[in-house]
Amino acid sequence: TKILVGMATSGIASGAQEVYDALEKEISKRGLDIVLSKTGSMGMDCIEPLVDVIVPGKPRLSFSRMTAKMVPGLLDQVANGGLGEVAPTYRMDEEEFLVQGKKTAYFKGAVPADYSGIPKITELPFYGKQVKIALRNCGSIDPESIEEYVARGGYSALYKALKTMKPGEVIAEVQTSGLRGRGGGGFPTGTKWQSCRDAEGEIKYVICNGDEGDPGAYMDRSVMEGDPHSVLEGMIIGAYAIGAHEGYIYVRNEYPLAVANLQRAIEQAREAGFLGNKIFGTGFSFDIKIGKGAGAFVCGESTALMASLEGKAGEPRAKYIHTVEHGLWDRPSDLNNVETWANVPVIIARGGKWFSEIGAKNSTGTKVFSLVGKINNIGLVEVPMGIPLKDIIYDIGGGIPGGRKLKAVQTGGPSGGCIPATMTDLPVDFDSLWEAGSMMGSGGMIVMDEKTCMVDIARYFIEFLVSESCGKCVPCREGIYRMNEILHDICAGKGKKGDVELLERMAEGIKDGSLCALGGSAPNPVLSTIRYFRDEYEAHIRDKK
Ligand code: SF4
Repeated sequence: TKILVGMATSGIASGAQEVYDALEKEISKRGLDIVLSKTGSMGMDCIEPLVDVIVPGKPRLSFSRMTAKMVPGLLDQVANGGLGEVAPTYRMDEEEFLVQGKKTAYFKGAVPADYSGIPKITELPFYGKQVKIALRNCGSIDPESIEEYVARGGYSALYKALKTMKPGEVIAEVQTSGLRGRGGGGFPTGTKWQSCRDAEGEIKYVICNGDEGDPGAYMDRSVMEGDPHSVLEGMIIGAYAIGAHEGYIYVRNEYPLAVANLQRAIEQAREAGFLGNKIFGTGFSFDIKIGKGAGAFVCGESTALMASLEGKAGEPRAKYIHTVEHGLWDRPSDLNNVETWANVPVIIARGGKWFSEIGAKNSTGTKVFSLVGKINNIGLVEVPMGIPLKDIIYDIGGGIPGGRKLKAVQTGGPSGGCIPATMTDLPVDFDSLWEAGSMMGSGGMIVMDEKTCMVDIARYFIEFLVSESCGKCVPCREGIYRMNEILHDICAGKGKKGDVELLERMAEGIKDGSLCALGGSAPNPVLSTIRYFRDEYEAHIRDKK
């Protein structure tokens, strides 16, 4: 028997460490033959701490909202095979993690010994429409164990790439998959790899962007914490395809668990021969180092990230010099984010065509979102691209708390925009979100109910960007500062006639004149809220005291 405790940052914040400690103590006191293990985020963060029990030959049972006090009751139940005081929330068989289901009930009441009546994970609305690729191992393996990663097929894609494929074939497979960068830009990953491979220079780098700074976003943190080897394996495959022998993972220092799990994973991979010289006995050598960032949002921008890795101030530079040719230390460099890298091993293992058949045209595969805000099921979700927004909000998210109405959904972080409730039929893919005035971004999805003031939301994001602007160029440094003042005035009842038009004019200038994407997209939350909620701006100004 094995017991898993969800020990991602979200679990620990809910008290998972106390539950783990209580389990360890009680198992030892009772002399039980139970393997106690940690795992990453299981997704449904709103019902953590989650504890899963795996009895050989039986479905995996998941117990939610566990406390240290509930531990003796749970162990009674595990020992007796049923009818404990602690009711499981759902059960799952391994293969069910990847398929779809329909029913909606949670289990309530006493637990029969044969587990009958306990809903399967796929019968839960939260999991029913999800497809796990990037999150395939999160919540199922111990991120501290390379053996558990390997036992689920880990590093077999690396073996396949290095032993049976030429670098060009690896790139072709990624191109066939249609994979686009999950960090925000949505640039085709295979094309980027090819450009970097074609760039002149003996020394090349692959870099993983784990800087994730959007308010409300924690997708990449969850992957780094819950399945660090998937990122490493993707990077090693990418390095082989591109011809790089050194790699860096740039992680913000506010993610200590991610840093620790990645560092341990790197050491394990070196020891196992997956990193270092002559991997799998081939002529290919590669190693990875971690670079820790100080938490500046702008360091998610590629050139600022590379400057920061070099030990310089994290300021962007002009984009006409491409980083695939002149990146880190002026050498050709390929930068992809955590989720992008985590997809790569599955693409190589199962084929680009398989991946391209999931999701939507021009937006293949899945996307991980952190679903937060005014929504019943707060958590980490992975959905096929093209899924209607309403399926995420109402089926997976369980709708809006307190019977209130949905007002808008903010996607794409501070660079994104707000999609109104009238547009929930919108397919969630790169192009549809862009046309709606928002963007995919890295995957933060903030839900707002009817009580939310949309002007205040715009002010919040602009204020965030004012404090995160590096100050290098005038349109961003001065422009969004002034927008912030106007928005503060409007929210405080001091708005003037013409302020909305002024905001619109300023937004155009800031978008056109800013050096990097932070300034270039900073006005998006203002423009999208004006586009869909202009009446709220006008009411603030008209009804001022
Ligand atoms: Fe810095 Fe803003 Fe200019 Fe980007 S747009 S370089 S963040 S001042």
